[in-house]
Amino acid sequence: MHANNERSAVDAAELRLAPGRHRANQGCPWIFRGELLRHEVPGGSVVRVVDATGRFVGRGIYSDRSQIAVRLMTTERATPVTVELAQRRLEEAVAWRARLYPDRDSLRLVNSEGDGLPGLVVDRYDTQLVVEVTTQTMAVWLPALVNTLVARLAPTAVLERGRLSVRGHEGLPQEDRVLLGDPLPLVYVHEHGVTYGVDVVGGQKTGHFLDQYENRAAAARFAAGGRVLDVFSHTGGFGLTALARGATAVVAVDSDERSLEQARGNAQRSGFADRFETVAQNAFDWLRQASEGGPQYEQVVLDPPAFTRSAKAVAGALRGYREINLRALKLVKPGGTLVTSSCSYHVDRAQFLEVVGEAARDAHRRVRVLEVRGASPDHPSHPLLPESRYLKCLILEVQ
Ligand code: SAH
Repeated sequence: MHANNERSAVDAAELRLAPGRHRANQGCPWIFRGELLRHEVPGGSVVRVVDATGRFVGRGIYSDRSQIAVRLMTTERATPVTVELAQRRLEEAVAWRARLYPDRDSLRLVNSEGDGLPGLVVDRYDTQLVVEVTTQTMAVWLPALVNTLVARLAPTAVLERGRLSVRGHEGLPQEDRVLLGDPLPLVYVHEHGVTYGVDVVGGQKTGHFLDQYENRAAAARFAAGGRVLDVFSHTGGFGLTALARGATAVVAVDSDERSLEQARGNAQRSGFADRFETVAQNAFDWLRQASEGGPQYEQVVLDPPAFTRSAKAVAGALRGYREINLRALKLVKPGGTLVTSSCSYHVDRAQFLEVVGEAARDAHRRVRVLEVRGASPDHPSHPLLPESRYLKCLILEVQ
């Protein structure tokens, strides 16, 4: 890997697109290896991309491993791509969040392409920061970027979560590293009247599913006064928010007992322990049984992990979504709501709506779509990169 900061200040190499139409011509930041003419460039370099006729397309960062060979960081001829550009964008991303959410103590500070920083994610949990790096160039720039974060936010600890399969594909080591300070095993953060203990070291993702922040509040609005079934609950996000907004009781289902243990801790410290029950079971099995005559709820929430990470497995994923949505719909009391999410980016919004519509037909339930939602705005996406808009969240009224 090419690890020389000075050389990134100049265009290390010019890469040429093969003749034909490419998404990059429209301004999409991803260029796949097969779209480029043959070339030899060290991984981690800054490159300048031109089209088949030699016209400037943009400048970006190069990977010698990934199928996504180039991630453009600018389409402006006059803008050099350097570590200083990345540092400026990092400063902007942080300053913008401070205006957007001045009162939150946990949120995403940097969201990769959505913030013009491909392969860099930074989440804040109170005074601790969790960083994920998934491109070779960001790995080279990381020490400088951490300096910027320290200067701007003075965190007590910075942890890099590195056990990500995409890092393997990039040839980056798959290990966690403490970059600063001494991370606490449990960080306490507050969201919509709920206190969470977040395990930034061992928890799923960076410890908490920050992308669903706004959706938890949106769902809770329809849950007041009723019983909520929170399936794929993780540490209790949707159910606990519903309790904070007036729901009467919650049943949380997840196959991961560690997450449920944390969920019970969160219920306790938020004052809802007597109204919060957990079930450690495979949600597919549990839903199948419960939907055969089990009690119904005013609100059912489904927030499963991605059912597919590849375009090839979409059919199977759609079957999975149809199955759980069918079961969940049967568990909604007439007049109640279903809150159903998908974070598989290979299943788009239209496909997801179609699957849920089919499930409603098969369940013999009439539904009205109340809200079609995405990730919270601290997870911005790139307009020409649908892959950066993976999260769909539908709120439906069920008759
Ligand atoms: N709704 C949560 C986030 C859910 S993440 C929030 O707002 O914070 C998805 C969850 O699904 C994870 O906690 C994972 O443990 C759980 N999970 C994955 N496969 C499962 C299965 N087959 N059955 C039940 N839970 C599962």
